[in-house]
Amino acid sequence: MPNYDYKCEKCDHLFEVFQSMNDPKLTDCPQEGCDGPVKRLLGTGAGIIFKGSGFYQTDYRSESYKAGEKKASESSAPKKEKKETKPSKSSD
Ligand SMILES: [Zn+2]
Repeated sequence: MPNYDYKCEKCDHLFEVFQSMNDPKLTDCPQEGCDGPVKRLLGTGAGIIFKGSGFYQTDYRSESYKAGEKKASESSAPKKEKKETKPSKSSD
């Protein structure tokens, strides 16, 4: 059963609701005396969204960037070394 994250646009109340996909979306804040409109947040584990998509994206990018950098230096370094240590053709 999926759980959905809702956020009240009036009082910023965050809450999770376990409901099936066939259940109607909630529209009203469950907080007593609020009754504000609630918005369903996309996906589960919306904590990532709350912290800001920038945080997640930056983290992901630096990870892949590091990997790419490592790969680049690995492929270029041995190649260069091999070239330098290669015996001259005349000795062959
Ligand atoms: Zn509310």
